[in-house]
Amino acid sequence: MTTTLGHDALVRMFHSAAQEIRDNHETLSKLDSVGGDGDHGSTMVRAMTRAEEAISQCETPTAKAVLHEVGWAILGVDGGATGPLLGTLFMAMAEAVGEAEVLDAPLLVHAFEAGLEGVSKHTKAQPGDKTMIDALTPAVKKLREALTAGATDAQALLRQAAEAAREGAEATAGMQARFGRAKNIKEKSIGQPDPGATSTALLFRGFLKGLETNA
Ligand code: ADP
Ligand code: MG
Repeated sequence: MTTTLGHDALVRMFHSAAQEIRDNHETLSKLDSVGGDGDHGSTMVRAMTRAEEAISQCETPTAKAVLHEVGWAILGVDGGATGPLLGTLFMAMAEAVGEAEVLDAPLLVHAFEAGLEGVSKHTKAQPGDKTMIDALTPAVKKLREALTAGATDAQALLRQAAEAAREGAEATAGMQARFGRAKNIKEKSIGQPDPGATSTALLFRGFLKGLETNA
């Protein structure tokens, strides 16, 4: 059981998420080659490597600092949509966490909601448009539901969120892309999951693994 998340737990979660992306980068690029430019795996590896470098150079051992440094590092990743969207997610989460030393369940949920809100300011994509929003939104919704249902354990919350993100990403296979490069191929985009939704689900799975293996 991991009731609250502090600086060290967040660091472990990001390292584990980075590993999850490295383990699956070929799949991500393959998915992106259907309607995009085939770079999503390498973009995500670059983003997570920068995030890990930023963490290792960060001298402020707070939850906010980890999220902020990761967000800032990812914002700086060139190559299209991923840097701004994912960077904004973690930057907005950092703001929501503020000076709190640890994230308890309500703060964890609030932070992810603020993250999604931040991302939504940068894109008009809605659930159903076959983007990373299709994994992020159900994960964040599930966090709120689980909290309302009485969950207090961060690990239990993330397990449910990771499952919702995975289901959300898988469901994008049946959708037609309305944002990103894949929208250009119209109905030909139907049949494979969206790369960004898939990588978002992998991040959640990595977060969960990071907690589980070190609990
Ligand atoms: P690019 O498409 O610029 O090459 P990536 O390959 O890194 O960027 O990421 C592509 C993913 O980014 C898509 O699968 C989709 O999930 C997400 N994406 C692209 N454009 C948008 C957008 N406008 N809103 C939300 N998500 C988007
Ligand atoms: Mg691409």
